[in-house]
Amino acid sequence: MTKKIFRSIFLVSLIVILACMAAASAFLYSYFSEIQQDQLQAELTLASQGVESDGENYLNALNITDYRITWVGADGTVLYDNEANPDEMENHLDRPEVQEALSTGSGSGVRTSSTLSERTYYLAHLLSDGTILRLSYSTESVFALLGGMWYAIVIVLIIAVVLSLALAKRLAKSIIRPLNQLDLDHPLENDSYEELTPLLTRLIQQHRQIDHQLEELHDRQTEFSAVTDNMSEGLILLGSDGSILSINRAAMKVFGTDGNCVGKDMLTVDRSRQVQELLHQAMSGEHSETILSKDGREYQLNASPIVNDGKLGGVALLAFDITEKAMMERQRREFSANVSHELKTPLHSIMGSAELIENGLVKADDMPRFVSRIRSEATRLVTLIDDIIRLSQLDEGIEMPKEQVDLMAISREAVEALSPLASEKDVEVSVTGGHSYISGVRRLLYEIVFNLCENAIKYNKDGGKVDINISKNTLTVTDTGIGIPPEHQSRVFERFYRVDKSHSRETGGTGLGLSIVKHAVLYHGAEIKMESHVGDGTKISVIFPEQDDK
Ligand code: ADP
Repeated sequence: MTKKIFRSIFLVSLIVILACMAAASAFLYSYFSEIQQDQLQAELTLASQGVESDGENYLNALNITDYRITWVGADGTVLYDNEANPDEMENHLDRPEVQEALSTGSGSGVRTSSTLSERTYYLAHLLSDGTILRLSYSTESVFALLGGMWYAIVIVLIIAVVLSLALAKRLAKSIIRPLNQLDLDHPLENDSYEELTPLLTRLIQQHRQIDHQLEELHDRQTEFSAVTDNMSEGLILLGSDGSILSINRAAMKVFGTDGNCVGKDMLTVDRSRQVQELLHQAMSGEHSETILSKDGREYQLNASPIVNDGKLGGVALLAFDITEKAMMERQRREFSANVSHELKTPLHSIMGSAELIENGLVKADDMPRFVSRIRSEATRLVTLIDDIIRLSQLDEGIEMPKEQVDLMAISREAVEALSPLASEKDVEVSVTGGHSYISGVRRLLYEIVFNLCENAIKYNKDGGKVDINISKNTLTVTDTGIGIPPEHQSRVFERFYRVDKSHSRETGGTGLGLSIVKHAVLYHGAEIKMESHVGDGTKISVIFPEQDDK
């Protein structure tokens, strides 16, 4: 801008200087020309009077060098000329000033030389005898005059240019300085140019508008962060170049990163081929999904393209933790496979025995054994189906009516019910401790005591002992049985898990007893603890939450 102002000022001042010079030259030239013409007129008047009285003698006596005097006869013949021989001069009748003098008494004329370098002014006067006296003087034309003064003009021009340059530079700087010093943060505090007031006022309005928009943007961002940070799903917003625009807390946890990754490429957070392919597909405008296993957990990743006015604006990546869901799904699949297997085994045995009997291949003596097998396998099937039904009821988590249940009373009931098994195994069962009332579902509490006691008898040695102890809110079943090897202890609560399949089968076990116990314990908010040593026995405790004394 400084340069532009400088150039304009310089050009204007140069044009003004040149125009002034031209105007001054023209004015002076015409002024001096007029003075000379007046003198010429005065000289002509004097000379006319002289010639009227003395004729040619007067002219010969004159010694004039400033003007040219020509005396022309009435027929145009030159009678006298102070610069040339009249006899050699052509007839002057056709000269305009002569013609004019002949008709009006006086005439004038101006002629420029062919080179334009000289101008000649003519004044003619008609004398009383019909002759014409003409005076003329030549002067240089204005161009020749200027040409003759070129060195002076060049010097003046150089001085003018230098002065214009210096002035233009100074002026341009002084115009720009206040503009450079404008305080744009406080527009109205500037008093440099009045003309800037509308601009500065507009600037204030824009300042206010920008402040307002920034505030709004900040509010929205805070709102967005508050919403996304409280989401349990991970959310990452990516720009069209793959850079992270926003990442919520859950996503930081999934990818093991922090807020510093914002602005960086997604590659810096996860380099796995799986995620890269997922994003690549989303970048090409297609919704895509994948399951990602990370740090022992499983996540479902959904990547959706964000389209703005038909153009890809970025990608939204959502991460759901599906570890529990996947585990339950796996367990469900395993359970279904196990159930069919467990059901098929006794059924095949029943069908096999029945077929043999049907085909008359069983001797009469063996018949009771076969019938007894069919009966025991059928009983096993019924027990299994009962256990499965109980487990699925517990799985559904249906709310069941609770009541005050005396652990001592139900323990005695269970021991009573299991006494045939205890006598069969020659196991001595005792119930010790005192009454303890638990707020719970009687049937489920009975299941807990019954299953633990049944296992304690089943997996006991002949002549072994079982003790059911109730103290405060804890039920402990201790046996002197075979014990559970340490590597199996954490798994015996899984469905269909058995330490020794054949032994369990012999004792009619389904592998679901401890699963039912675990579920029933969880249903009551209780805790289960196991202590077992192979050959010595097992101690399983169920600790119920503290009960309000009523
Ligand atoms: P099952 O119907 O086979 O008894 P459970 O779920 O009740 O199934 O028990 C799972 C497995 O844990 C049993 O097969 C057995 O091997 C083992 N087990 C359970 N209780 C005892 C115990 N008191 N002593 C030794 N082993 C036990």
